[in-house]
Amino acid sequence: MFDSFARVTRSFPVIPIIAFAACSRATSTAPVPVQPVVMGDTAAIRTLVARLDLERYKATIKGLTQFGDRRQGTDRNRAAVDWIEQQLKSYGCTNTERITYDFQPAPPAPRPAGVRDSTLAQGGGRLRGIRNRTGVNNDSTKQPDPRLRALDTPQSVPGQRQEVYCTKVGATHPDEMYIGGGHMDGIGWGEAANDDGSGTALVMELARVFSSPDVVTDRSIRFILWNNEESGLNGAKAYVAQRQSLQGKGEPRWLGMIQHDMMLFDHGMPRPDHTMSPDQRPEADINIEFQDTSKMARQSQQLAWFFAKANEKFATDYPASVGQHMTNTDSDPFKDIVPSISLRENERGTQIGAGWDPQWHQPTDLYATYNDKDFRLGLNAAQTTLSAVAELVGARLGK
Ligand SMILES: [Zn+2]
Repeated sequence: MFDSFARVTRSFPVIPIIAFAACSRATSTAPVPVQPVVMGDTAAIRTLVARLDLERYKATIKGLTQFGDRRQGTDRNRAAVDWIEQQLKSYGCTNTERITYDFQPAPPAPRPAGVRDSTLAQGGGRLRGIRNRTGVNNDSTKQPDPRLRALDTPQSVPGQRQEVYCTKVGATHPDEMYIGGGHMDGIGWGEAANDDGSGTALVMELARVFSSPDVVTDRSIRFILWNNEESGLNGAKAYVAQRQSLQGKGEPRWLGMIQHDMMLFDHGMPRPDHTMSPDQRPEADINIEFQDTSKMARQSQQLAWFFAKANEKFATDYPASVGQHMTNTDSDPFKDIVPSISLRENERGTQIGAGWDPQWHQPTDLYATYNDKDFRLGLNAAQTTLSAVAELVGARLGK
């Protein structure tokens, strides 16, 4: 079992994704060879997936909410970065490092001239059906809990920022890595439990499982908790700016970037009277998106379908859907450089952008807002990424 696993994993996934890296949409019209998706040692991956646990995932989200909305440029944000680093170390992901950068907010961009098609969604999709208004709450009085209102009151100050990551170092190809991310900052005068405590906790849980001393991987995995996503993906942009050119010179070569942003709430389209179902919709799914206008579109699409396949095989409760409009999250700065995908509760442009998540950037984005069905959707996304990445890096159980 051990050997056959190693053979199968080496035969598949990393190689084809790298092999296409030189092709661009503009210069190549040859059809993309469809790789047979061969899954490796089911038993080993199932063992790793079983180490994810709903109560642990919930506890990590709850732990993040002790820092309120964790808004970038505040003491509560810095305290959250420290806490995340301590947690990573306690999981055995001890080689933590930080990216340091300066953040000065840009002046608001002027509205584009001309008449805009109001059915166009961000990222390229089309808005359909019943829509609710979206936006960022900036009104402190909308937070009825005085304790949380006080916690979220200090406002962002421009200046130095940090974000933390740790790395599972590969045993045979430490110089090649996948990057898994979620953003730890939030806004809206709530607890940023779903946006993006849910994605942050997911990445932290993956760091915990992969850092177990009996887990060996051929290739490396970096677990990054981005800062400054809500201000314009500035933490992810800082990482790309500082480290893209270091690949092969201290920075492992990037094989793919997998982002997790808003993992919990899939209650469907707003009703005709614009209220929302209090219950998760029976068809709840994980939305895996790539960006079809990016230079890495074909490779990213292949990665997305690979994740969907891993979901079918290893996720316990919820299916995955693949879409082509990845947008507005920390995978964006990577999308023309490496295969890049995002996992979410809904499609960002056509669904979240149409008001399918009434807690988004609102005071109601609280740990207490969600129930176990919601949290389990996030856990299934964790199962999906864990199993797919385990396959991609050649994970196995040693000792
Ligand atoms: Zn977010």
